[in-house]
Amino acid sequence: MTRQTLQDLRLPKALIGDLARFDGAEDAVFLRGDVTVENGRVTGMIPAPATDAGGAILLPKFTEPHCHLDKCHTIARMGHTGGDLRAAIEAQRADKANWTDADLRTRALRGLSEYAAAGTRLVRSHVDWGDTPEPPRAWSLFLELASDPSGPALHLSALTSIPQMVDPAFAQTVARAIPEGHALGCFVYGHDGIETGLRHVFDLAARHGLPLDFHVDEGLDPALNGLEAIADMALATGFDGPILCGHACSLATRAPTEVARIADKLARAGIFVCLLPTTNLYLQGRRDGTPIARGVTLARELSTAGVRLVTGADNVRDAFCPIGRHDPIRSLELAILTAHLDPPLDRWLRMITTDAARALGADPGLLNGAPLDTLQIADARDLTGLISGAPLSPISLY
Ligand SMILES: [Zn+2]
Repeated sequence: MTRQTLQDLRLPKALIGDLARFDGAEDAVFLRGDVTVENGRVTGMIPAPATDAGGAILLPKFTEPHCHLDKCHTIARMGHTGGDLRAAIEAQRADKANWTDADLRTRALRGLSEYAAAGTRLVRSHVDWGDTPEPPRAWSLFLELASDPSGPALHLSALTSIPQMVDPAFAQTVARAIPEGHALGCFVYGHDGIETGLRHVFDLAARHGLPLDFHVDEGLDPALNGLEAIADMALATGFDGPILCGHACSLATRAPTEVARIADKLARAGIFVCLLPTTNLYLQGRRDGTPIARGVTLARELSTAGVRLVTGADNVRDAFCPIGRHDPIRSLELAILTAHLDPPLDRWLRMITTDAARALGADPGLLNGAPLDTLQIADARDLTGLISGAPLSPISLY
């Protein structure tokens, strides 16, 4: 057995897991002391004197629960001048004429290298399924990228739509093309046939052992309530895999009693909700003048009701959002500002670490027992410094 000690570090208590062998000094949301390591894994903490130069933060590498590597970094060639969700969908559809193998691979690898540089260990990217049931070219290409063990792990989610999944033959062809570890996704936007489409999605996910990932209610029309339909289907079927619902914008337009009812169902079903502030801020609440609505879901109400939240970059430099970064810390920073996610910030740090991984059906990556190569050191002394962009280093360089 090899033993090591990492001297004088702060560990966020919310990310440790079993605290039994962590005997450090209490310091706000942290335990501070020397971290013990056996065979390359964190095993505990022992008390140690604080040093002037020490006290940096040890934390898991991040998880990105929601991005679009097939669309990223396309804005410069589009000539797109803004607009709402529909305008973005049309502009991005026209750009697909440029999606050669080399173009898709180059942009996706750029996105993945940006995630690696931002301290990310796991990325879920949606892939537009296209108009036919057979997998699009991007799906096959990105599965090849996902098999590369270097860089962040890549999980894919097939981005279909309710009108497609209402057709059982279409739905079955999609589900069969999704290997273990990747997800079945669906765009739910006030369509006809939501219940039928969702039933097919849930049945196929259960049969094939696939996690679920929805783009749901990406608009502020109160008539949009796919979120409750998903929660109802989850409760009715007893689906036991992870379910992630991105956007849920229209929840913000509902009466408090309806919000409470829907939030309770989401909590009981164990559904994760993903805040996607960049794209929501850019596309929602558009009018002739400056926007007033923020467009994001009711994060605070959901959290209070016991719904676990995560946050992601969503669109980076494409028709849906002309700016952005593949950087989970930036996503969290923006979520905190947009949704008033107040201190203490350790509960929100879960949105890009442990809970983000759970939402994907992955190991949460808690510090207790974690391999050192899944961890990183932030040159910060508190969480406001970390989330404001403190430098991050892998353990090997520390
Ligand atoms: Zn998205």
